[in-house]
Amino acid sequence: NTFQDLGLNKDLLQAITDLGFTQPSEVQEKAIPILLGAEGDLVALAQTGTGKTAAFGFPMLEKIDLDSRTTQGLILSPTRELCLQITNEMKLYGKYCKGLNVAAVYGGASITEQAREVKRGAQIIVATPGRMKDMISRRLVDITKIQYAVLDEADEMLNMGFKEDITDILSHTPADKSTWLFSATMPKEVAAIAKNFMHNPQEITV
Ligand code: AMP
Repeated sequence: NTFQDLGLNKDLLQAITDLGFTQPSEVQEKAIPILLGAEGDLVALAQTGTGKTAAFGFPMLEKIDLDSRTTQGLILSPTRELCLQITNEMKLYGKYCKGLNVAAVYGGASITEQAREVKRGAQIIVATPGRMKDMISRRLVDITKIQYAVLDEADEMLNMGFKEDITDILSHTPADKSTWLFSATMPKEVAAIAKNFMHNPQEITV
């Protein structure tokens, strides 16, 4: 299988060529066709290092409306390091997506600066839960038009005590969005999130 077979557009295929990715990884091969297809939820059991960022990143970049400056995609991740890493990857994957703005929102850095980045018209926000919740309560972000929400490393986020923040954040997003949950393990707390916040998710394991 090639990336072309998976149905990605030419802007993404060009970025993939530049990055030197020759073929999709297993999680990409399984997730990308599902996420590019019908709207809906996904639960993916995948470790880090499997290429999962691109597995949700490419479909999100393909699906968002770049002509709009509304925030349409939200990616929640457990740590500042991971948040910055995902932001960086999304910018690389989307380097030919004209008009794309990706904003990183995480603790321990200037909230004013991050709010400015969001206000520039970020279609995608990559965030840690605590800072995201803070930005929502201060009305520095509007996530009421989110169509795609990713919970990355869901097990780690719950281990770190972010359950309430995640619940609170998701409650500000539309009920009819698609939620894509990625986790290395499936303890009952993660299964409960999937059960309570997702609708008949498709499931994949790598
Ligand atoms: P991740 O699991 O998302 O943290 O990705 C691990 C690393 O693999 C990252 O540095 C990606 O840039 C790289 N990567 C992702 N997909 C592919 C692919 N299809 N071929 C080669 N490298 C990839």
